[in-house]
Amino acid sequence: MARKKILVTGGAGFVGSHLCERLLNDGNEVYCLDNYFTGQKENVVHLLKNPYFELIRHDVTSSIFLETDEIYNLACPASPVHYQYNPIKTMKTSVMGAINMLGLAKRVNAKILQASTSEVYGDPLVHPQPESYWGHVNPIGERACYDEGKRSAETLFLNYHKQNNVNIKIIRIFNTYGPKMHPNDGRVVSNFIVQALQNQDITVYGEGNQTRSFQYVDDLVEGMIRLMNSRDGFIGPVNIGNPGEFTILELAKKVIELTGSKSKIVYKPLPSDDPMQRQPDISLAKKELDWEPKVNLEEGLLKTIAFFKTVI
Ligand code: NAD
Ligand code: UDP
Repeated sequence: MARKKILVTGGAGFVGSHLCERLLNDGNEVYCLDNYFTGQKENVVHLLKNPYFELIRHDVTSSIFLETDEIYNLACPASPVHYQYNPIKTMKTSVMGAINMLGLAKRVNAKILQASTSEVYGDPLVHPQPESYWGHVNPIGERACYDEGKRSAETLFLNYHKQNNVNIKIIRIFNTYGPKMHPNDGRVVSNFIVQALQNQDITVYGEGNQTRSFQYVDDLVEGMIRLMNSRDGFIGPVNIGNPGEFTILELAKKVIELTGSKSKIVYKPLPSDDPMQRQPDISLAKKELDWEPKVNLEEGLLKTIAFFKTVI
């Protein structure tokens, strides 16, 4: 069978680099496109010895012309610290990036998957969140550049599908962690592990009673590939996340326990619009993709801690 040519935008980032590696191992030809805003060459440099891997420095806010069979559109900073650094650029990346990649998919007749997010549900009033929930997003808040950018991208995907018959898939990703997160990424799992390994204070925002459901990166990559290969006519959106729900304080205590750290927990102000609870309803993923997460929090944290010990 001929190798599929697969473009991964944001391929040098945390999730993208795991996805590139898996797609190469599955025997595909992979084009990894990135502007290195939050990603880094180090994440994929080991793949360069594979002749079926290509690294392209490019910004998705500009169009690009290449031949490809499938596109995974991941380009977009995902940590609140990074996406709020230049909110206009974040929206441009989501919206213009979607338009450019959908235009490419239309031109070369490629199938295209959008990495959307549980953030489309905002600070949810329905719990757990099924795909049918429309969400509760503040359009003028600190997180809006990301949330509304991703919501607009979903709309663009749907419209290119209906109007131009582009073959689309939309995944709504819940909080994901694992090796290759940047030590300064700013998200909670990497912050807590780095702090714990350095015996520094663990910074819990607010009282730590807000919840998140944490998914190990290998489970996400499996879900993405299953969605891309799902039956014609199934486009999603589909939640991919681990339904195990933990408070941020529980996470802090778990990280201290697993690292054997001497760190103390300190409390910092809760950022505005920080969602109070989040848990995926994964019934649709189970039914359509026969997918469910395999790695529990403790197992995933131990693998992630082992990684951070090698880089800090
Ligand atoms: P990340 O920040 O590690 O990776 C994003 C990558 O996109 C980086 O390599 C960055 O340099 C690149 N990028 C950013 N703007 C770009 C642009 N304009 N042009 C080209 N490349 C650009 O984040 P991640 O956790 O790997 O997230 C990957 C995708 O998954 C993102 O779209 C994110 O919104 C989505 N997602 C992730 C999570 C999660 O918990 N990790 C949750 C929901 C959604
Ligand atoms: N958080 C925290 N300490 C940190 C970083 C984050 O308590 O050092 C909290 C944050 O306020 C939020 C949760 O952890 O309630 C998850 O934050 P993250 O930035 O990882 O993702 P998101 O808010 O986008 O789910």
